Amino acid sequence: MRKYDKYPVFSATAGPCDTHPEVLEALSRQLMYFDDPHFESIFRNTGEKLKKVLQTNNDIVLMQGEAVLGLEAAARNLIKPGDRCLNLVSGVYGKGFEWYITQSGGEPVELAVDYNDIVDPSQVKQVLSKEKNLKFLSVVHSETPSGTLNPVNQICRMAKDHGLITIVDSVSAAGGTELKVDDWGIDICVVGPQKCLSSTPGVCILSVSDDAWDLIKKNNPSRFSYLSILDWKELWLEKGVFPYTPFISDVVALDKALDILLEEGLNNAWERHDYVAKVCREGVKGMGLTLWPRCEEISNNCCTAIKMPDGLDDKKFRRHLREKYGVMISGGYGELIGKLFRISHMGFTAKPHYVLLALALVEKTLDDLGYPVKLGCGVGAALEAMQ
Ligand SMILES: *Cc1c(COP(=O)(O)O)cnc(C)c1O
Repeated sequence: MRKYDKYPVFSATAGPCDTHPEVLEALSRQLMYFDDPHFESIFRNTGEKLKKVLQTNNDIVLMQGEAVLGLEAAARNLIKPGDRCLNLVSGVYGKGFEWYITQSGGEPVELAVDYNDIVDPSQVKQVLSKEKNLKFLSVVHSETPSGTLNPVNQICRMAKDHGLITIVDSVSAAGGTELKVDDWGIDICVVGPQKCLSSTPGVCILSVSDDAWDLIKKNNPSRFSYLSILDWKELWLEKGVFPYTPFISDVVALDKALDILLEEGLNNAWERHDYVAKVCREGVKGMGLTLWPRCEEISNNCCTAIKMPDGLDDKKFRRHLREKYGVMISGGYGELIGKLFRISHMGFTAKPHYVLLALALVEKTLDDLGYPVKLGCGVGAALEAMQ
């Protein structure tokens, strides 16, 4: 058996993951000077395309750094010492936002559920009517490490009706599942390019509402910093000048990835993710494994989380899969390390053949490691689920 020790032959990870050849081609283009009119027009168009994907008329800011930069920047620019923020926690990223709240001097008010569950809007309603002086609500849309999807739609509308500013981590949901920033009342929406948009990591996409801008300006936040969202507004959005040398290749790639998504159509892309996620879940169950989310209705559609079978070691399992078969999948993250593994289907990789190949070689690896599986059961069930 050949050992694949360099590039994976195949990747079904939770991002970065495989992308469209046209995005790769865009990445390999000649670099442009930042005030080259062609680059400026690409940058501007990328923002306009993102408005369509996020379904918003709010400003789009592209920050230089990974997606969590946007989460930290949102907290640092909006939350002042003493501000109370209702932080909804249904997983690792939800819990993680608490750090940014406290680092900004804010007071987190936590509503937490088990990490295999989602936040119930009726519970949020109770907290909203009981707690006084809440200023913000923060929530993760698709909690990627758990493979679950929070009902951000209902939650944010309620929070807005109570006069709160809403901050949503939709890093892995945008492009794969329904997201309507304006209709749902999302003040700050943070999105990552390397998940369902199938572009590169390293750009942070933010939509910022007028309410959020008003507060940011009032807060008089620190300027000329990577965390300053206002620099981007006053320089790029208002004067067409970049605060620093922008991330040329990543923006060119993102622009291409958005063309591909918009050409497919948002509804078609969402349906494709739903379909492939269903095929994947059927395959997992067919193999005799257990899905991590409490029930299938709360699953997200970009990342199938699977309980680690008893007695199986995550490192050994995924290393075997990678070294023997060249297949890379994601393990658990944070508190969930060792408890689950994930087969992802995001953007370009949300296709049946990706899921089928991952399922087949997960099945083979389990068999190699002495875990009782009947070869072909997982793939068979997945094939049955395909119409
Ligand atoms: C991937 C992810 C992030 C972090 O994105 P980075 O680009 O690694 O900073 C944050 N939140 C969620 C829900 C994610 O899936």
